Amino acid sequence: MSMSRVELCLPSGAIMAHLESDPMKPAFDVCVRGAGVVGQTMALLLAGLRLRVALVQGNTPSAPDVRAFALNAASRNLLQELRCWPEPDHATAVQQMRVWGDGGAQVHLEAPNPQGLTWIVDTPILLAQLAQAIQYQALVSVVPSNESASLTVVCEGRHSASREQAGAGHEVLPYDQHALAARVDCALPHQGQAFQWFQHDQGELGILALLPMGGSMGQQAALVWSLSPARAQQLKAMPKAEFEQALHHASHDQLGAMRLASERHTWPLQMARALQWCGTYSDGQAWVLAGDAAHSVHPLAGLGLNLGLADAQALRHVLHTRQGVNHWRGLNDRRLLRRYERERKAGMWPTWVACDGLQRLFAHPHALVKDLRQWGMKNFDAIPPLKQWVIQQAMQ
Ligand SMILES: Cc1cc2nc3c(=O)[nH]c(=O)nc-3n(C[C@H](O)[C@H](O)[C@H](O)COP(=O)(O)OP(=O)(O)OC[C@H]3O[C@@H](n4cnc5c(N)ncnc54)[C@H](O)[C@@H]3O)c2cc1C
Repeated sequence: MSMSRVELCLPSGAIMAHLESDPMKPAFDVCVRGAGVVGQTMALLLAGLRLRVALVQGNTPSAPDVRAFALNAASRNLLQELRCWPEPDHATAVQQMRVWGDGGAQVHLEAPNPQGLTWIVDTPILLAQLAQAIQYQALVSVVPSNESASLTVVCEGRHSASREQAGAGHEVLPYDQHALAARVDCALPHQGQAFQWFQHDQGELGILALLPMGGSMGQQAALVWSLSPARAQQLKAMPKAEFEQALHHASHDQLGAMRLASERHTWPLQMARALQWCGTYSDGQAWVLAGDAAHSVHPLAGLGLNLGLADAQALRHVLHTRQGVNHWRGLNDRRLLRRYERERKAGMWPTWVACDGLQRLFAHPHALVKDLRQWGMKNFDAIPPLKQWVIQQAMQ
């Protein structure tokens, strides 16, 4: 793209930045490292600010992701803005959520409006839609390796090498659990219901979630089963029929008999956070972290990706101020990037506390704690205004 064309379509603040810049300046303003959902979304959002983005594609996975993500209204709005929200059959609206505790107490959540409580999005479809949008965005170039740019946005996921190289510091609290994920075909339609069971088996916590897929009357579900590492490996290696039987038993026949419709994959679970989310390299260029490179949480509340998408939106918002009051600040401006860091760290706290607190509360084997869980669930279910408040928070 010629320089004159870039200047023509730039807003005034950005034109200033271009006119003042060195003719030897890098070909890209921003380098986004990692092309997962967060990286691709980030690249599209920053290109929307007329920034020239290099998107570094890592190794392509050998098999499609078997997971489906529960995405909230805020994530949905963001992806709709990018025209990357999948069709209703691939983004199933959850109308009701039923959660059972290990003592039999139940919490029943209903969508506050006909649109839904949350949406279960088919991961490979979402990735494909984002990749297609990127093909049509001339300001994003997909590149095989890291490029020089004023700002590097690290979206490499939880094992990010760039985060380590930058010396960001990373605190990890491993849970003694692995999540087993797969797709299943069910004998009965799910009718837009999501199910979750907290169970204790021989003193070990298991959390089984069945998430509806394939539209409101679909008969497919994405399962996420968090278990001790040994039990998860056992279920993964088990013959198909035996696994289906174990799943049917654990899901109390809610969706009838189930047939495995994909490979089974496992992920070790952890809560983690980077200590520093932004900084400067020795050459004066800056870096920031986003998505799982910055934080990860237990999937029991289906919030990890929602948080990563909120990071992308927050960084876009902060950098957008360069088109107004902050027009004189560079993309590597420490004050701007620290603002992003502070905002997102503060936004993360309630989720960390809720996810970790719930995991610990349900993992505790003591009988008194079990009674407390029972009591808490019953009372929570009996106070509609409290349920409405929690629903509103989760949707945002
Ligand atoms: C079982 C399970 C279920 C989950 N369910 C939900 C849910 O329902 N809802 C929800 O919101 N969240 C959920 N999560 C969390 C969600 O998966 C993550 O938060 C989300 O995938 C993070 O996205 P990301 O783009 O930051 O990282 P990733 O998805 O890990 O993507 C990182 C990308 O960077 C690439 N990469 C890595 N290193 C490099 C490098 N050096 N150079 C270039 N590229 C690189 C990788 O190949 C990958 O493509 C779940 C997690 C698990 C384990």
